Amino acid sequence: MVATRPETNTIAIARTFDGIEEAAHRVIEQVGGMASVLKGAKIAILKPNFVAGRGAETGSTTSFALLKAVAEEVQACGAEPVLCEMPGTEFDREATYTILGVEQFCQERGIRILRIDPEGNEQDWVPVQPAGAKKLRRFHVPRILNEACLINLPVLKTHVVSTMTLGMKNPMGILPRPDRRSMHTFGIDQSIVDMNLGIKPDLTIIDGSVGQDGEGPLYGDRADLQVLVAGHDSLAVDLVCCQLVGVKPRDIPHLKLALEQVGKPSWTLAGEDVGVIKQFRLPEVKPLYRFVFWMMYPLDYPFTWISERGKHLCTTLYSTGLVGTRPQIKEENCTRCGVCVEACPLPNVIDLKSLKVNYATCQRCLLCYEACPENAISVKGYSGARQ
Ligand code: SF4
Ligand code: SF4
Repeated sequence: MVATRPETNTIAIARTFDGIEEAAHRVIEQVGGMASVLKGAKIAILKPNFVAGRGAETGSTTSFALLKAVAEEVQACGAEPVLCEMPGTEFDREATYTILGVEQFCQERGIRILRIDPEGNEQDWVPVQPAGAKKLRRFHVPRILNEACLINLPVLKTHVVSTMTLGMKNPMGILPRPDRRSMHTFGIDQSIVDMNLGIKPDLTIIDGSVGQDGEGPLYGDRADLQVLVAGHDSLAVDLVCCQLVGVKPRDIPHLKLALEQVGKPSWTLAGEDVGVIKQFRLPEVKPLYRFVFWMMYPLDYPFTWISERGKHLCTTLYSTGLVGTRPQIKEENCTRCGVCVEACPLPNVIDLKSLKVNYATCQRCLLCYEACPENAISVKGYSGARQ
């Protein structure tokens, strides 16, 4: 995990036409095999992108098939796969895991779930002070990384705040919430570069089996890319991904900064020769939205001092039902058939009597919206989803 340049610079590309697992095994072999990743470590931290309760078929989250293949490779080397991931600050970890089915999947595949304190309890975290960092000069990583290797499993998708979210941004999900908040306050683009000076995954495999463009990372347009991209250097992997979706790396602010400050890495391509699979549409930059998002984090500091531990301003605002992407039932169209209640993976969120959604517990997965046979549910708030 320690931030050093990797020994090999092979970037492997594989299409997933014959299955995501098969493609995963191919790219792992092409970048030197799992033993070369583990280097004797007995624990491998698997860091998927489970930013929210939106399934892999939407292009929001990492596919279980990729996780399964990686876990099998780790186990075949005699090491233990351990999943570590915290969703976005505005989402509840347990509810997100329930919607995605993470607990059952991990149980069936022998993957241990690491549930460390997202608020940064010292027992679970160790500080990192990367040399050369410009903004994020100190942050914390899970203590277990002292003895484990880190396998980074992001999704190939756009992001309304950072333009794209690929290999370099994905490790944010294993930082405690106060550090993630700092990254937004200090400036997300420079902070991503700084974070990568202190934490370097031993292997990154980008899941482009289904990605997302437009208003990603949750409600953008599904992109059937059917590709995996693997390598040891996150920046190099990200640059190759940009080529596959016709995006100039210098249009992605954190990649531009990384190229200027760290330099362009060299690499050798292995696997399939792939041109531009899909010309990605980058998210529309909305200055007001970015400003509101940026403001929320500094305001969260005083809020967390006066409120109950674990409570955050954005979750509290979302629970009012006045802001954020959220489903709303249109009484005039609703037949009270109950399909939405059955589709909702969480208990007691939709009340059929009052036709109200409990926004304090709703995780905005939009499964109810997709299931309603009468189009009686609309999606409110800023989002790329259909209105
Ligand atoms: S699925 Fe649609 S029509 Fe049926 S109860 Fe829910 S909102 Fe009403
Ligand atoms: S109410 Fe709808 S959006 Fe909210 S958690 Fe349930 S299914 Fe998901």
